[in-house]
Amino acid sequence: MERSLLIVYTGGTIGMKENPETRALAPFNFEQIEQEVPELRRFGYNIVTESLAPLVDSSDVDVDFWLRLAGIIEARYNEFDGFVVLHGTDTMAYTASALSFMLCNLSKPVVLTGSQLPIGAIRTDGKENLLGALEIAAAQADNQAIVPEVAIFFNHVLLRGNRATKFGAARFDAFKSYNYPPLAEAGIAIRYHTQAIRPRGIGDLQVLKRFDAHVASLRLFPGIAQEAVEAVVGIPTLRGLVLETFGSGNAPSLPWLYDLLRHATSCGVIVVNTTQCAADSVTMAAYDAGLGLLQAGAISGADMTFEAVITKLMLALGEYPATNDATSYFLRNIAGEKS
Ligand code: ASP
Repeated sequence: MERSLLIVYTGGTIGMKENPETRALAPFNFEQIEQEVPELRRFGYNIVTESLAPLVDSSDVDVDFWLRLAGIIEARYNEFDGFVVLHGTDTMAYTASALSFMLCNLSKPVVLTGSQLPIGAIRTDGKENLLGALEIAAAQADNQAIVPEVAIFFNHVLLRGNRATKFGAARFDAFKSYNYPPLAEAGIAIRYHTQAIRPRGIGDLQVLKRFDAHVASLRLFPGIAQEAVEAVVGIPTLRGLVLETFGSGNAPSLPWLYDLLRHATSCGVIVVNTTQCAADSVTMAAYDAGLGLLQAGAISGADMTFEAVITKLMLALGEYPATNDATSYFLRNIAGEKS
């Protein structure tokens, strides 16, 4: 049976073309994508495109953008077998993480992709990325989607969306997943690592839509000044703080730091301990330096990416007004974001 796929174009480099006279990059009318990528016709899929208005450079992505994007997927969920979201690379991992938590009971693929070079450039990576993402979004076995989760396809590799992070600004392999293996790799054939892929959701799609943006992050460094920490912890509306610590979750043994954090957690602020290391996990009891954070009431970000931690925390706080409920949601494994 012919597969139906929806491409949602949100902005970013992939949808741009060089003006031959001025050589400046400008977005082209995405409804005419087949003119740029005639290979699309050869798939034999029924491909529908929808553009988000206005298009955004992904540096401008915000909660409202996630709501609009998830709203399109929700509204058109039953019409299509899979969804491909074209997105700027800069914040793609944040959007993929947010969608993975918002779209509950997902049973169809939502594959994000973009490119480092515009689709209208001669050496573009956009065509490969788009064609691969479409093939993955359409892939089924026994009439069921092979990848029923939110994923990022980039440079021949399919990564779980909430495990991915942008690591290169000017290279084709722009994304890495340090703590989880790829879901698929595209060579001559696309090889799916089925044991790494999440099971299909059971029941109807449900979309969580409440975010609370009263969160902040604080990256520790040797010599950090008390007033810098006070300024962040003292934000009157603060409900969540992501502390980026050293190694396996360690902080300097400064009594004022622990006092400030203890005060924050006792006032109901959720303090998440996440490591500055790209790979591996926070284990707070490994050293005294981490144990102190545990005693100050911090909770572990485990091996989640920063992108997953921040979006999950915002959703936890939005969906659950009581700190205890938000904390238990945050500590659960919701969409394969932690080991
Ligand atoms: N600044 C662009 C964006 O993220 C870069 C890209 O498209 O990759 O929207």
